[in-house]
Amino acid sequence: MRINLFWKLSLPYLALLVALLATVDFYARQTLRQQLLHAGTTQLETLLRLARAQPPDFDRPEALSRWVTWLAASGARVTVIAADGTVLADSREDSRSMGNLADRPEVQQAFASGEGRTVRFSTTANREMLILAARFDRPGQAPVALHLSMPLGQIQQEMAAIRRQLWTGLLAVLVVAGGITLWLSRQFARRVERLKEFSAQVATGDFRSLPVRRRGDELDALAHDWNETARRLDQLVQALTEERRRTEAILASMGEGVAVVDADSRIVFCNHAFCSAVQWGPEPCAGRPLVEVVRQVELVSAVERALAGQQVRIEEVSLGSVPQRFFAATATPVRGGASHAAVLVLHDITESRRLERVRRDFVANVSHELKTPLTAIQGFAETLLSSASENPETRRRFLEIIRDHAVRLGRLTDELLTLSSIEAGKLALEMVPLAPEQILEPCLELTRLRTAGRQLAIAVERPDELPNVRGDLQRLQQVLQNLLDNAVQYTPDGGRITVRVYPREGEVVFEVADTGIGIPEADQPRIFERFYRVDAARSREVGGTGLGLSIAKHLVEAHGGRIWVESEVGRGSRFFFTVPVVR
Ligand code: ADP
Repeated sequence: MRINLFWKLSLPYLALLVALLATVDFYARQTLRQQLLHAGTTQLETLLRLARAQPPDFDRPEALSRWVTWLAASGARVTVIAADGTVLADSREDSRSMGNLADRPEVQQAFASGEGRTVRFSTTANREMLILAARFDRPGQAPVALHLSMPLGQIQQEMAAIRRQLWTGLLAVLVVAGGITLWLSRQFARRVERLKEFSAQVATGDFRSLPVRRRGDELDALAHDWNETARRLDQLVQALTEERRRTEAILASMGEGVAVVDADSRIVFCNHAFCSAVQWGPEPCAGRPLVEVVRQVELVSAVERALAGQQVRIEEVSLGSVPQRFFAATATPVRGGASHAAVLVLHDITESRRLERVRRDFVANVSHELKTPLTAIQGFAETLLSSASENPETRRRFLEIIRDHAVRLGRLTDELLTLSSIEAGKLALEMVPLAPEQILEPCLELTRLRTAGRQLAIAVERPDELPNVRGDLQRLQQVLQNLLDNAVQYTPDGGRITVRVYPREGEVVFEVADTGIGIPEADQPRIFERFYRVDAARSREVGGTGLGLSIAKHLVEAHGGRIWVESEVGRGSRFFFTVPVVR
């Protein structure tokens, strides 16, 4: 059974109180008895002195009887005993009916030493008696003994009365002191209970303080200290929570994928970038085994080595299939106290790998593009130098070929320069309000000139009113001209080229539609890439560089517009680009 603090405090107090009272009673009884015995003895001794002062004639029974009666007036029983133990006179009974008293110890003692005293329980009187016996010597005669006895009943009655008073007093003390003890214990137990509740409340994370008296005792001082501790804990928890939130926000906003793995290879934390890197679904990945989330042997073994205390770096690892992405990974051991953990950081290098590839391809493409005209120029120049042909007609033809290739080289380098200045962000656009006709008319005129000998129908569809657009006139003409040139190049004779211009939601759409060869669907997203050509040989034949659409796309986007294509092989293509209107 659990005894609570209240009873633990009160029971010993009460026991102590009862023991104290019992001790007081015991000693009081002892002292009282002794005092009463002493008083009785003094009384008997006084009586004895009185008897010695006026001794009777022991041989005369009447005188003896009178003397005995006189002495018995004090309240004591007086008996005179002869040396042989026979009773000579007694104040209560007839001496002849009384037996021999020689065997009484006090009588024997009196005859032997002169005086004998005792306290004895008298069976005849059925009570305790205080007895004093004394020898009376008679010259020339046998001595006699005077036997004085007094019942202790009176003493006991007095003692009982005193003890009753004592007990009444003691009980009053017991009730008052017990009451105070119980009250104090209750108060104390309640305060301790409150402290216990407070610490339980703090343990649940509730740091509200406990009301405390300013100048209290040690318990109040303890409560005050606990309040202080709770306040500090609260501050600490708040600071840690804040710190944790900040760390989580930083980790969540990081571009790098970060995951923390515990000693059991389970994920403790991972950020959004990590989940998307390993292509994990929307459900939280914290708490799951690493192998379940990251299905990549190299990464899992890197984390295992990090958990063994080794820092591991992987230069390139591919994750996912469509689209495949590339990451540089670092697994670092973390030692916090007794627990081991590892942090896995994934840095996305897909874009830099792609740019590297683009750069490599670009160099290869440029070299290839330069090589064809240069080889031709070199070949024809060498032929001319060796004077293989003295024929002026042939020489002229050769020189014309050399010039055409030189022109092509010039165009190529011009376009490359434009492209690089656009990509370097160095292209300065002169943005002014323009009427769409300003862009359209010169391009149409030039296209009509270029198609003079061909059987191509060129039509324009536009509303009477068009809003002004904002842009660089020359650059927008360059874009439209490029689309028109392509349409002319990839549309066989008998075909039709239609230019449509119309407004739409804050922009003007320019559309160049042809009935030409069309572009296969798979190539359509790529024709805006540098050097990309559906049919490289044919493009080169017609003098194309594969850079036109790439430049057009850059220019349109620099104006805040978009460019796209819709096409069907054998039926024709429709190129669109938009330019924002003036606001
Ligand atoms: P090019 O100088 O070769 O014309 P572009 O960048 O202008 O380079 O065009 C890229 C490729 O897109 C061309 O090589 C051609 O294959 C395809 N293309 C562009 N316009 C058309 C069109 N109107 N019809 C069919 N194919 C086209």
